[in-house]
Amino acid sequence: MTTRTSPLRADIDLEAPGRRVGHVRLPNSVHESAYGWIPIPIAVIRGGEGPTVLLTAGNHGDEYEGQIALLKLVRELDPARLRGRVIVLPRMNLPAAAAGRRTSPIDGGNLNRVFPGDPDGTVTEQIASYVASVLVPMTQASIDIHSGGSSLDYLPCAYARLPADPGLRARQRAALQAFGAPRAILVENPLTNNSMSATALAAGHVHFSTEIGGGGTTRPSSQAIADDGVRRFLAHLGVVDDAPPVAAPTRMMRVAGAEHYVYAPVRGLFEPAFELGDVVMRGQLAGRIHFPEEPERAPRELHFAGDGVLVCRRVSSLVAPGDCLAHLASDL
Ligand code: CA
Repeated sequence: MTTRTSPLRADIDLEAPGRRVGHVRLPNSVHESAYGWIPIPIAVIRGGEGPTVLLTAGNHGDEYEGQIALLKLVRELDPARLRGRVIVLPRMNLPAAAAGRRTSPIDGGNLNRVFPGDPDGTVTEQIASYVASVLVPMTQASIDIHSGGSSLDYLPCAYARLPADPGLRARQRAALQAFGAPRAILVENPLTNNSMSATALAAGHVHFSTEIGGGGTTRPSSQAIADDGVRRFLAHLGVVDDAPPVAAPTRMMRVAGAEHYVYAPVRGLFEPAFELGDVVMRGQLAGRIHFPEEPERAPRELHFAGDGVLVCRRVSSLVAPGDCLAHLASDL
């Protein structure tokens, strides 16, 4: 990791008023394309005076609500009616998104585990470095739109790492309520310090992420949360005038540490004892792992280590030691 500025640049002017769509060109000299580059799509919509907002999706390539919501936004935002500038990366980790995978097929990189990146590093590290060292410093507010991906399914929520600064925390809280997802989960013990969110919050952004659905697909209900939420976020910042109204106030929740997670201790077939949205208690049965190679062997029972609402579950029933099977959140 380094703090040196990425040499990568967009092939469009990010400063002039109007709407432009182009690419960040990431050189990638490979057997099939000796002088080739990876064209990461980027768009800018700039109107009058106002803040710069960075909206990103496709950080994990198999999470689709954000990618679709940002494609719509690029086409529909009118620069003549905008106060400020919106920079959009609908497929931030393009190689992963093009392959429909969480991680890059080029270097295996998980973009959301390598921030702030390395300008001399792997392809994935170079993407992180460009975003962290070129785009984030231009920006005052951002959302990195995630879903559960192929392996997890979420009750749709905004998902926020907490900034250290109390003033920024209050502005983040107001933005979460403006976004208007059915629930917002404040993460007290993030799984990584090398995420887009960690970088954006360290830069002082009004920032949060989301977990809008999952299972490697999208649904009308989850898509609407992403579509409408980004517009409400822009209206909250004063960048646009109009946004769809919030259906119901956002339920504020927290996810704590290990007591809110259930992991597989052994390999087998997981039979959950819960549905998404269930309210569960510490000690309650979470499910059973069956041993298909040993039909006579009794399954291993797993129990919840804390109380809360079941907000996330693993999609596949095939599990191996270390797989996250479920996690809870509790009301603030
Ligand atoms: Ca994700």
